[in-house]
Amino acid sequence: MPILCDYHWHTPLCQHATGPLEAYVERALGLGLREVGFSDHNPLPRGLGANVRMTEAELDGYVNRVLALQARYRGQIDVRLGLEMDYVEGLEPYLTAQLARYPWDYVIGSVHYLDAGCVQSAWPKKYIGTAPELYGPYLGLIRQLAASGLCDIIGHFDVPKRSGCRPTAAEADDITRTLQAIAQAGTCVEINTSGYRHPELPHPQPYPALPLVEQALALGIPLAVNSDAHAPEQVGLRFTEVDAWLRRHGCRQLARFAHRQRDYYAL
Ligand code: ZN
Ligand code: FE
Ligand code: FE
Ligand code: ZN
Repeated sequence: MPILCDYHWHTPLCQHATGPLEAYVERALGLGLREVGFSDHNPLPRGLGANVRMTEAELDGYVNRVLALQARYRGQIDVRLGLEMDYVEGLEPYLTAQLARYPWDYVIGSVHYLDAGCVQSAWPKKYIGTAPELYGPYLGLIRQLAASGLCDIIGHFDVPKRSGCRPTAAEADDITRTLQAIAQAGTCVEINTSGYRHPELPHPQPYPALPLVEQALALGIPLAVNSDAHAPEQVGLRFTEVDAWLRRHGCRQLARFAHRQRDYYAL
């Protein structure tokens, strides 16, 4: 079977995605996908990171909108209810309560900020520091996220490279240790194909970079392939070539989710 799922889609509620939600689903139908889901950026308290997410007051509407689409497309394609949850140190009780309030099919956990005030980006533009200064704190937060058990899928694993600062040999151990921690926690890692359309990356590549996906495979980490679409035409981006790459590297199954339970389908 080809890749059948794409679980990482945004909506205009986050203020940096476009297109009606139906257009994402229609695009997926056209590509032959079977199971898809929205996972928009979650609300945070006290206006943290407010410029790239829905407000707390909009969360009910988001959930109802996705559930309505699920009902509308039943029998044609399975539309799942997901969320991209920002992991922010200290917000664990807030996030736990937010997740408990709705019937999520899966939660993608991402680290977009390196500080509790959600000011320092995990991929600062025009970054001039060293790789260890950037990846050290980031990877520490990813390990905390995995250990927290808050999410089902780790989002865009090596996203700090979007700053133009690629990990060096000095980060190799830290990265391996982090993948081991994810394997230990039993969390899925997504192969996020948005890297193929990010102009900041000199060589088109997903998150994580393919050599890191090989490490994840060797560690037995469950994988999913997601587009992180912020527009309908980005749905399923580069899935055909990622599919071929996965087969060549011995990947025989991908993770799927419903009601926060993981299952697998054969590739
Ligand atoms: Zn986004
Ligand atoms: Fe993200
Ligand atoms: Fe996303
Ligand atoms: Zn994202």
